[in-house]
Amino acid sequence: MALVNEHFLKLPNNYLFADIAKKVNAFRTTHPKADVISLGIGDVTQPLCPAVIEAMHRATDEMAQQGSFRGYGPEQGYDFLREAILKNDFLPRGIHLDISEIFINDGAKSDTGNIQELVRWDNSIGVTDPIYPVYIDSNVMIGRAGTVEDGRWSNVIYMPCTAENHFTPQIPDRRVDIIYLCYPNNPTGTVISKDELRKWVNYALRNDALIFYDAAYQAYIQDDAIPHSIYEIRGARKCAIEFHSYSKTAGFTGIRCGYTIVPKELTASTLTGERIPLNQLWYRRQCTKFNGTSYISQRAAEATYTPEGKQQIRATIDYYMRNAHHIKQTLTALGLEVYGGDNAPYLWVRTPRGEGSWRFFEQMLYDAHVVSTPGVGFGPSGEGYVRLTAFASQEQTDEALHRIERWLK
Ligand SMILES: *Cc1c(COP(=O)(O)O)cnc(C)c1O
Repeated sequence: MALVNEHFLKLPNNYLFADIAKKVNAFRTTHPKADVISLGIGDVTQPLCPAVIEAMHRATDEMAQQGSFRGYGPEQGYDFLREAILKNDFLPRGIHLDISEIFINDGAKSDTGNIQELVRWDNSIGVTDPIYPVYIDSNVMIGRAGTVEDGRWSNVIYMPCTAENHFTPQIPDRRVDIIYLCYPNNPTGTVISKDELRKWVNYALRNDALIFYDAAYQAYIQDDAIPHSIYEIRGARKCAIEFHSYSKTAGFTGIRCGYTIVPKELTASTLTGERIPLNQLWYRRQCTKFNGTSYISQRAAEATYTPEGKQQIRATIDYYMRNAHHIKQTLTALGLEVYGGDNAPYLWVRTPRGEGSWRFFEQMLYDAHVVSTPGVGFGPSGEGYVRLTAFASQEQTDEALHRIERWLK
């Protein structure tokens, strides 16, 4: 008899964005003439930049010719892209990586979900709360998260990030083996300073813990003092794996490409105390389960590092960040408490009268015809907040803000 992996059954059936879609559809059915604007989903809207498009056309033409056709590539990615990453994303910040520490992936979601395969099932995990759901759900699927009660998993240590602690998670007072950090943060749009990040690295080094650091939004950082990579902190190579993505940086949500850094100095212990380099384990894992990111996607990613590519993707990020500033200014002027949005495309808005997230979501939908994302969908500490994104077009963002203004005034 084939027995199912029952850990999957513990996952809540309701997927946040499916629940939102259901409520929006119900509204549309009863209000067929209403024009609904979404500031909800975390997907980009602006097209790929010309430098990327040209590179993809060139790569496609290569694939069409006998002499330049490419089949399977290296599982860990082509050197042309890995070298461009070293030179552009790390060297200018004084970070010297070896090319073998870079693994090209098909987007950061896969690797942030898969990385937990490298550690034993009984490690404890710690997450900032609210949080990108992939980190917990991927641990639930193999049984590491324990059982759920009131939206909390028994083997997960939650580190609340709320207005009360200025979205600065407190270092746990107990041992945590694996810590997930995401900065700039989805969903709160807040960032971490070098001093705060140093505390986490030191905690990990002291406790022989691992940090899985999601830097998917690093390109949105405007303030030069904010770290773009955890490897800007001394000692991080001994304790941290970092994830990057071209999805939000360059509009690759439909193209699929990103990369993961697994430093060679990074080790974890066997039960008998032998230190095992995780770089080798991840290489082995990828060679077995992953056959590489498409050549065309990797050429597209490489093009983001050309002078034109850099300038063009910067222009799109600036466009989204103008939306973010406009949302923050307008809602703050209306008396709302708004966080994030300065170094991230997300705004985290406190419900004005302490309403629950879902209630405020419905009010904004019914009274302003604007879709947000209920904060509680990202974890218990998200209750009492909604997330707005800066990814809509400028016109839609402006119109959504007009409606929210009219509604709240
Ligand atoms: C969007 C996002 C990613 C990137 O996902 P891809 O698979 O690269 O598209 C990773 N982490 C977070 C927190 C995100 O919001």
